[in-house]
Amino acid sequence: MQSLINRKTISPGAIYCVGKNYPEHAKEMELLESKILQTRTDNISEPIIFMKPPTALETDGVIVMPAFQGNPLSTNMHYEAELVLLVGKSSDGCTLEEAPDYIRGYGVGLDMTLRDEQLAAKKAGNPWLKSKGFRKSALISDFVPFNQHDFPLDIEISLELNGLLVQHGAVSDMLHSPAMLIHYLSYLYGLRSGDLIFTGTPAGVGPVTSGDTLKALIFLPEFIGRERQELAELRARVD
Ligand code: MG
Repeated sequence: MQSLINRKTISPGAIYCVGKNYPEHAKEMELLESKILQTRTDNISEPIIFMKPPTALETDGVIVMPAFQGNPLSTNMHYEAELVLLVGKSSDGCTLEEAPDYIRGYGVGLDMTLRDEQLAAKKAGNPWLKSKGFRKSALISDFVPFNQHDFPLDIEISLELNGLLVQHGAVSDMLHSPAMLIHYLSYLYGLRSGDLIFTGTPAGVGPVTSGDTLKALIFLPEFIGRERQELAELRARVD
């Protein structure tokens, strides 16, 4: 591995997240939602964006079920392994072509989600903050410095839960590319150096329980003349 950007040095002002950015995950979410929603309302022509507060960031790899007054907030906390972008400079509107200039690095993260709370919020038409923005819900790895001239286009992402592969996807399957997300977010909300973008999860999401161990990875698969190459890794455990 080349030298990485230490996750402990990252201090985002904003943590943006993208929903349903992989077609197979969008399908599995629609199955979950069909149990509570009568009609589909999502329009996937634009990215689905939500946020976590900066206090959601977790750099020690510890997943904790959030609680209030001693009561756990959920009985169904899910993992979502994702490619994460680190913004390198501020923009209040960059073109799609300019967008790669604003990426400082890329890593792998876990967008921890209280799935029962999220589905209840969707049904009630309420915000997702409780289900997505709790403390320690945004776990990150160290980051690979981004260089658009040798940025690999065939990055894959995987997640092992207790040593078993549960998620695997190709970043090229994203509905909205990293450059498109930078372009879009810069115009709508503005981006600042240090912001993080969780770019969505591939299919295979599921629950965690206390004692579980997780290993999320971004890597380049074996290809003609090239060995498999691991780019960044995030190990986590559920407290
Ligand atoms: Mg997610």
